[in-house]
Amino acid sequence: MKPYRLAARDGKDTIIEIVGRNGAGTCLIGEGFCTIIAGPCAVESEEGILSAARLVKTLGAHILRGGAFKPRTSPYSFPGLGLEGLNYLALARKETGLPIITEVLDVRDIDRVLEVADIVQVGSRNMHNYPLLRDLSRQKVPVLLKRGYAATVEEWLLAAEYLMAGGNGQVILCERGIRTFENLTRNTVDIGVVPLLKELSHLPVIVDPSHALGKWQLVRPVAKAAIAAGADGLMIEVHPHPEAALSDGDQSLTGDNFRRLMDEIKALAHLEGKRM
Ligand code: PEP
Ligand code: MN
Repeated sequence: MKPYRLAARDGKDTIIEIVGRNGAGTCLIGEGFCTIIAGPCAVESEEGILSAARLVKTLGAHILRGGAFKPRTSPYSFPGLGLEGLNYLALARKETGLPIITEVLDVRDIDRVLEVADIVQVGSRNMHNYPLLRDLSRQKVPVLLKRGYAATVEEWLLAAEYLMAGGNGQVILCERGIRTFENLTRNTVDIGVVPLLKELSHLPVIVDPSHALGKWQLVRPVAKAAIAAGADGLMIEVHPHPEAALSDGDQSLTGDNFRRLMDEIKALAHLEGKRM
């Protein structure tokens, strides 16, 4: 028996229904679907997240991303707007009808993040934060669990198991690149993990090529590779003005670049028999 008993494949595929609150739409993540999460790295201002939300909504994204609590490598970098950022995300959902995904960094913030988030994100740096996973396992909210940047697939599935063992079966796995000796890309994207996870687990698998590559020019080709490899969706950083972004501007797509990605992904999803 696999050490990750609940996450292990048992014949069926798990399809997670995202029920957007406050009038936001409902969407599905899992086998047979191609679900697109898009938006800026961070919520930077009310107008900033509203304009990004309108942009990605117009171009066909299903879910809006935006960090209010940012896990920055340097303590001097923009840490996010915190609670104020959560309020702006709620406004963006109200206006566009897009469900919201945002990251929780700290167990002490869970209640407040859950007041707004339709999906809660556990970031790469927190994949091994077992107290956080345990607390989220007791919540009734879908969790997008990013792969730790140095985590093996088994460690990742065991992190998913923490969520499931506590009673939260709504887990989405997100590959976001791992650290290797290569440094011309921000991380090394592990495309092979997509079909591997599909064999090992019934959980939905999505890919974040933005954090995996770190360069906007590389995002669209790798997004296509992810869908071709069987991913159930993508997380893409999009910013109306990447040159002015407070974080991750180098990897953020403009509206025009995101439009092109969406056109190509739609064609590919159709070929793969995925609904988008
Ligand atoms: C993010 O998606 O905002 C993020 C910080 O990504 P990661 O945890 O993959 O670095
Ligand atoms: Mn980012």
